[in-house]
Amino acid sequence: MEEVNEILISRLEQWYATHARELPWRATRDAYCIWVSEIILQQTRVAQGYDYYLRFIERFPNVKELAMAPEDEVMKYWQGLGYYSRARNMHAAAKDIVLRFGAAFPSNFEDIRSLKGVGDYTAAAIASIAFGLPHAVVDGNVYRVLSRLFGVDIPIDTPQGKRYFSQLAQSLLHRDNPGLYNQAIMELGALQCTPGACDCSDCPLSDICVACASRTVAQLPVKQGKVSIKSRYFHYFVISCGGFTWLKKREGKDIWRNLYEYPLIETPEEADFIEIQRTEEYRKLFDGVGKIAFVDQPYTCRHVLTHRVIHATFYTVEVESFPASLSHLTPVAVADVEQFAVSRLTELYHQYREKKLLHE
Ligand code: SF4
Repeated sequence: MEEVNEILISRLEQWYATHARELPWRATRDAYCIWVSEIILQQTRVAQGYDYYLRFIERFPNVKELAMAPEDEVMKYWQGLGYYSRARNMHAAAKDIVLRFGAAFPSNFEDIRSLKGVGDYTAAAIASIAFGLPHAVVDGNVYRVLSRLFGVDIPIDTPQGKRYFSQLAQSLLHRDNPGLYNQAIMELGALQCTPGACDCSDCPLSDICVACASRTVAQLPVKQGKVSIKSRYFHYFVISCGGFTWLKKREGKDIWRNLYEYPLIETPEEADFIEIQRTEEYRKLFDGVGKIAFVDQPYTCRHVLTHRVIHATFYTVEVESFPASLSHLTPVAVADVEQFAVSRLTELYHQYREKKLLHE
């Protein structure tokens, strides 16, 4: 094992020296920047996260600036990236760092791990890359490389699998240079040892790889269960009156918390407009508004999230008088709506509307 370990370390690091992508967060050892990049990349591809990272760091260059910023502004900078709890947690964690550590980013694994939104993987990445501490990362790329390299078919989404791979990764770590080693194995998983059937002929580990020899690459890693996908039915009302519209900040423990959206009626199953009109929510929403006129055809779309599919319809209506029933919502001049942080779904609706206006 010791020999395999040495071969693995030297080949991985040599391969990384010539193949690693040049990325802005790799040119720094600033723990704050590494943290921001890791959180952005948790659920986002590098190509999509790249510009977000640059904009975010430019506006919030350190913990203090992030902690002092209003949450709405942080959310605005996150808009379009999805999984908004990441931004909320980062904002809360920045305030926590100011309070507990005097705005200096914590420099040991336990303190980093104690920050909101930081799990074992992120803590190990920051601890090893920024501070050179010996903690192995285990993300999807590492699971893939290790399960194939050693031919391990223990499902990676079980407690047993998680324990097994975390111990294996830790035992292989290059203790003299854990940050470089961690980045190298993740990069190999991202660029070379990719999901499905990959090209092993160029891989620096092909002669010691069990899956490559046994032709089981496409079968590894093994996953036990699939998540069930739930459908939700959202009916938005884009109500305008005298150049104003109304937005509501989402609250509670649901998707898109703290983002703004148009008044929403959610139904347990698909419903057409006649059925929506019969709901109590509809009556409350349009109570005392006078005549309601449809301005446009409803815009419908299917928006896919990790565990849900949102079937959305946007109804654009104009009402005669300022609805008292909307007094608990935020009135916004129609021209200012773009300044509010909204979900990707609402952003898609805005893009559709803009395109439509251009063609009219
Ligand atoms: S030889 Fe193929 S399966 Fe094995 S680590 Fe390399 S790319 Fe992955």
